[in-house]
Amino acid sequence: HIMEKNTCIVMVPCPGLSHLIPLVEFAKRLVQHDHHKLHVTFLIPSLGPPSSSMMAILNDLPPDIDFTILNQINIEDLPQNIHPAPKMRLTVKLSIPFLHEAVSSLSSRTHLVALVFDMFSVDAIDVAKQFNLLSYVFFASGATTLSFCLSLPKLHESVSFTEVTKTVNVPGCVVPFQVKDLPDPLPCESTSENLISYVDICRILSLVDGLIVNSFLDLESGAIRALQVNENSPRVYPVGPIIQIKSASNENQWECIEWLNKHPPKSVLYVSFGSGGTLSQDQLNELAFGLELSGHKFLWVVRAPNNSPSSAYLIGQKEDQLNYLPSGFLDRTKGRGLVVSSWAPQIEVLGHGSTGAFLSHCGWNSILESVVCGMPMIVWPLFAEQRMNAVTVTEVLKVAVKPKVDDESGIIKREEIVKVIKRIMEGDQGFEIRKRIKDLSDAAGAALREHGSSRRALSSLVLKWQKI
Ligand code: UDP
Repeated sequence: HIMEKNTCIVMVPCPGLSHLIPLVEFAKRLVQHDHHKLHVTFLIPSLGPPSSSMMAILNDLPPDIDFTILNQINIEDLPQNIHPAPKMRLTVKLSIPFLHEAVSSLSSRTHLVALVFDMFSVDAIDVAKQFNLLSYVFFASGATTLSFCLSLPKLHESVSFTEVTKTVNVPGCVVPFQVKDLPDPLPCESTSENLISYVDICRILSLVDGLIVNSFLDLESGAIRALQVNENSPRVYPVGPIIQIKSASNENQWECIEWLNKHPPKSVLYVSFGSGGTLSQDQLNELAFGLELSGHKFLWVVRAPNNSPSSAYLIGQKEDQLNYLPSGFLDRTKGRGLVVSSWAPQIEVLGHGSTGAFLSHCGWNSILESVVCGMPMIVWPLFAEQRMNAVTVTEVLKVAVKPKVDDESGIIKREEIVKVIKRIMEGDQGFEIRKRIKDLSDAAGAALREHGSSRRALSSLVLKWQKI
């Protein structure tokens, strides 16, 4: 039930839990903000029945936020074997008629002022325009990636992405990025439909009324300032770090917290590849042997191997038998290592006193959660913009170490894995990194407090909406 006098905002997440989670958390911050009365309605495009984790999040929304899951699109309208990003965009595109209908109904009943969507639901901009609403992107990755994306439509005219060791400069960033570290689908591409679609998304980013970015000034000051002075950029609102407060996990996924309780402070390495990252069988074996040989304690969220690194993304959680692990691995590491299948309550794991470092695929949410919890990282990027995030945390922020990929096999070997684990868990470099990430964690807290930079950015947005 929506109070008619309240200002209403519609949010349109693209499919995928790691896009829904930060947008929901952002909505919660909006409706809780001071005494302004805002109402948020989520209109959610869907490509299948909602997962239990998604329903757990949606059923837990506070009274000023409600949601409608839009009619499911016809899966047969999606090409086979399509990559996550185009799959997300196409799902939203195919949902536009349903979105149009829902927005039409809301705008006749409420004081609807703005539509907020994310990078892969930018096509919702057409609906915003039709109903004369303000349009905003909630950018669920960092300001560095956003700065790059805004520069892409022009850059694309002069740079060939087939030369993967060439470097490009990203406005506001102190280190150049090699083409191979740019977001998918750019590396190696020249003319594909995916590349053209990505450039098109980036072009739309500069057409909205505001860009809300899940970052904060002390984390990415160069990129944020560059965006603020960029004439082609809409106004930028750095409101982060916005992360989940508690995990949406089922009962038996909490046993790992009990396991962590038994270990000394900062002694356990947490290993996770996000909501859907997967390794090849060879790489999985090397990681298992690396963890075993390092002698350190570990908590590893594993998934069945697959040669495509994003194979479990958008597919959801699937608990499986662990028979793809090297023979005898579980026995040999018993007591010292815990392997959980598919999913762990990550925010509670990172906030646990026994966790000492995070081997991460560098999804932006994972990075923010690591920063907030002051957790040093080992970076292991797999797909999307994760390579770019990995460069930011290792080379710009210097709060992470990166294992080298073996040239011949193209995988990270066990000896290298042992080396980086020891560096982060034992050595002087680990100590320095721990100090730096603790400072960032303090800065994150300050940004969100009253008068903090992110809190002020959020206030200015709320005020703007209130005035309409
Ligand atoms: N997550 C979790 N448990 C897991 C894996 C992921 O709770 O086992 C959460 C994690 O805390 C984060 C999100 O799922 O909030 C993953 O988002 P991220 O941007 O790091 O990566 P993506 O899933 O988009 O690759």
